[in-house]
Amino acid sequence: MPRCIPEPYRIKMVEPLRMTTREHRAACLEKAGYNTFLLHSDDVFIDLLTDSGTSAMSDRQWGALMVGDEAYAGSRSFDHMRESIEDVMGYALVIPTHQGRGAEHLFFQNFVQPGDIIPMNMYFTTTRAHLELAGGEFRDVICDEAHDTSSDFRWKGNVDIEKLDGLVEQYGSERVRAISVAPDVNMAGGQPFSLQNLREVRAYCSGHGIKVFLDITRIAENAWFIRHNEAGFADWSIKEIIREICSNSDGAWMSSKKDGLVNMGGFLAMQPWEDELFQRCRSQVVVYEGLHTYGGMSGRDMESLAVGLREVCEDSYLSCRHSQIELLHGLLARAGVPVVNPCGGHGVFLDARAFLPHIDQDHYPAQALAAEIFLECGVRTMERGNVSAGRDPETGLNRRPKLELVRLAIPRRVYTESHLEYTAEGIIDVYHRRHAVRGLDIISEPAVLRFFQSRFSQHTETLPVVDSEHHLAVPPPHYW
Ligand SMILES: *Cc1c(COP(=O)(O)O)cnc(C)c1O
Repeated sequence: MPRCIPEPYRIKMVEPLRMTTREHRAACLEKAGYNTFLLHSDDVFIDLLTDSGTSAMSDRQWGALMVGDEAYAGSRSFDHMRESIEDVMGYALVIPTHQGRGAEHLFFQNFVQPGDIIPMNMYFTTTRAHLELAGGEFRDVICDEAHDTSSDFRWKGNVDIEKLDGLVEQYGSERVRAISVAPDVNMAGGQPFSLQNLREVRAYCSGHGIKVFLDITRIAENAWFIRHNEAGFADWSIKEIIREICSNSDGAWMSSKKDGLVNMGGFLAMQPWEDELFQRCRSQVVVYEGLHTYGGMSGRDMESLAVGLREVCEDSYLSCRHSQIELLHGLLARAGVPVVNPCGGHGVFLDARAFLPHIDQDHYPAQALAAEIFLECGVRTMERGNVSAGRDPETGLNRRPKLELVRLAIPRRVYTESHLEYTAEGIIDVYHRRHAVRGLDIISEPAVLRFFQSRFSQHTETLPVVDSEHHLAVPPPHYW
């Protein structure tokens, strides 16, 4: 068990939580169509749905809120935010947006030409949606280990340069004009890339005239892994590593709702040589977000982001955060619960295929497991599997991704160790009665980003027979 690292902060304000009964939670699930996104927050005891916009701000950030400059144009708070981004990441050109997807929208609408192929190290839902809405196509170039939940490889976020090279051979660099690389890859279980890999990607791309754009939403968490696990970086500060990551790119976007340690906001940032693209994005931000000195953020939000970006670089904070996540990961793994290894940067991911092998992927085991965990203990989690992956536009069939995961995202600076111990106990209880968990059928689904609003009902398959020791008496019907 990892040694506990105490939180490098103390609690100054508390927010009450309400425990509910199992009957109440069963009714809530039915009402929400078994989709944890459709639950009401008041009915949730511990909310591990997402680490997005759920961070606790520091006293300094709350103080900064009070000095926000709400001027429509030329806000002083924009300068503070831009200076902080340049100081921490090295990007001089900055456009604020209301959140990460606002920046993705601007970037893809202005960068992508129809038919472009943009490889990524796996994908993020909104990023892929904006790429496709702009007429581009996504290709996955993440290393094979990322798809193997049992592999202990430390750098599952790495790009497989041979896969990238294969795409360039096939389509040419006229169509593969850029690669987008994300740190701490969410869909792979919060897995980092190594700086060595990013440098190799950069060198390859420079040789082929391909741009490198980063999705730096969780850059500090990836930097922590580099500092602690990659040879040669132990003496570097987190900030130095972040700057080094960004120096290997042409630009980036960020959802500040994660490593920005604020509840709302995002930005698009570029290196000076991307001025032409930057100007085009900046002239469009006024249409979709707001004037280029606030872009959908209020002055106070920009002010607290300026502080948050500096606070997230503190190694003491990142080490404590990581030890919390390792604690939860370890408690579950030791009880035999199938988890993604190694432990991720922003949460723990359950392998729903291995957890519920009797449920076929088209009955959404990860969705069903997320619902069951809520029923058991009031902890809200999220599906990251067949529902999130959506349908193939050509065949209309589910994409059936290799990874069928439930994500337990840990909000930053919000919960204590005992919250996580309680969570582990609840999930272990579900694991002991896993054979009685039913799959789901979709009742309704939106065309884009369906995981947010789809509704489900319980599937009426025959459940596998188990003996009193919870062992399967017969093989599961749709084992894959
Ligand atoms: C959250 C997220 C986004 C989108 O940002 P929003 O602020 O939710 O709009 C993009 N990329 C990654 C990796 C994310 O985690």
